[in-house]
Amino acid sequence: MKKVYGGVLEGIKVRTITIETDISQGTPNIIIVGLADKAVSESKERIRCCLNLIKFSIKKITVSLSPADIKKTGAALDLSIFIGIISEKITLDFEKFIWFGELGLDGKIKKSIGILATCIDAYQNNKIVICSVDSELESLPYCNYIFINSIFEIFTNEFIEKCNNFQIIHRSQDISLVDKINKLLNTNINEDILLKYNLTDLYNWLLQEFDPFDHIYEQDMGKLAIILSAIGGHHCLFVGPQGVGKSLLCKSITKILPPLTQNELLESSTIYNISQEYLSNNRPFRTPHSGCSLAALTGSAYQPGEISLAHNGVLFLDELPEYSPNVIESLKVPLEEKKIHISRAMIKDIYPANIILLASMNPCKCGLYFTKKCICSKNYIQKISAPIIDRLDMLIILENTFTFNKTNYFNCHRNIFKSYIKKKHESMIISPEVLHTAQNLINKHHLSLRSLDKILSLAHTFACYENMDISIHHVYAVIMLRKAIK
Ligand SMILES: [Zn+2]
Repeated sequence: MKKVYGGVLEGIKVRTITIETDISQGTPNIIIVGLADKAVSESKERIRCCLNLIKFSIKKITVSLSPADIKKTGAALDLSIFIGIISEKITLDFEKFIWFGELGLDGKIKKSIGILATCIDAYQNNKIVICSVDSELESLPYCNYIFINSIFEIFTNEFIEKCNNFQIIHRSQDISLVDKINKLLNTNINEDILLKYNLTDLYNWLLQEFDPFDHIYEQDMGKLAIILSAIGGHHCLFVGPQGVGKSLLCKSITKILPPLTQNELLESSTIYNISQEYLSNNRPFRTPHSGCSLAALTGSAYQPGEISLAHNGVLFLDELPEYSPNVIESLKVPLEEKKIHISRAMIKDIYPANIILLASMNPCKCGLYFTKKCICSKNYIQKISAPIIDRLDMLIILENTFTFNKTNYFNCHRNIFKSYIKKKHESMIISPEVLHTAQNLINKHHLSLRSLDKILSLAHTFACYENMDISIHHVYAVIMLRKAIK
């Protein structure tokens, strides 16, 4: 009995499914065993049509899907089950291939959700994916796949030859760039760390020499907050009147976020592929509308939400109090656990949610709450619950200024990447003196205990940015960046 392989989606990963088929004399029928759901059962009818199209006489066909304990959903198994049934008719080394796609009643092969996840899984297991020509895999960094249009192609010599002669591709990198990058940064970053990136993309990114804030005057504290967010993944809320540049500041983070590692790119691309969206090579920057529903933000079965689409990047909520309270509250768990659990109708999925949360808001109706000129009876900050405020790392109050001073952030990309690597790969060393200062400041400002971790982590990020050890100066500085959090 030949074994044929297909795949089903679980969260953003694909599980390989082994298909074994037994054909015997008896009443013509197709029986599928192994926890197949309704969609897979419906595929029996599509498969029956396709078998008729190729004049395959149906006998008693039993198809077993394993492992049996996982639920098989969706139509992507159609092609693999079909191939399992007709496997005796073609000569192929089935071990090498994963078949993935839905069958049309006319024999066409249609694309299915989860193709990118399947390709990544296949790449890691040295297999080749055979899928629909509509699968839009142009952006895939690794490419071991063969496209087909219809079931009729499977029986052509051309197709069989293509499959038998397929060379699995392993991408190689230009190692000399490791030295070039270290020279450019005046660092000694380990080769293993740099090789996680696409070296060419990284090198080009580091060569950039523009000021990411060249369109924003003043607001140096806001700019520092954005830089620290980019380096350490810190969450930040900007509060200030209209026109002060909150949104501009938040959007400028896209210009300084370090490139995605190759694994991060695969992960994020998979999420976008499942959502049938396209991700460029840059870190995601998602701006869901304030009217967005809970499901749109957190996701549902087969549909990652905005939080997961922002994974490895930024979720930007403009005018935070305008989002419904349950939408804001839903951020609590993902901000802490960096993932989100979806549980609906027998399906339990876990989507990743490692995000930087940036948010902005007016402090009150007139926008002048923090000045003596405010005429409002209440402020908007009260609308944001304490647990959410507590999970923020920085709360920056921005005011209108009219001096038009500008600090230059020309060349900051290299410094940001250096700091980013330092923060990520070097452990935090806290002297007793620094710890003592932080504890005193927490008592003095009546901050929560959670704040201590946040302050120390933020101080570490700041120290990395200044290429120094954490000192009392950093602790005092970051207290200023979150002083308004109480
Ligand atoms: Zn006011």
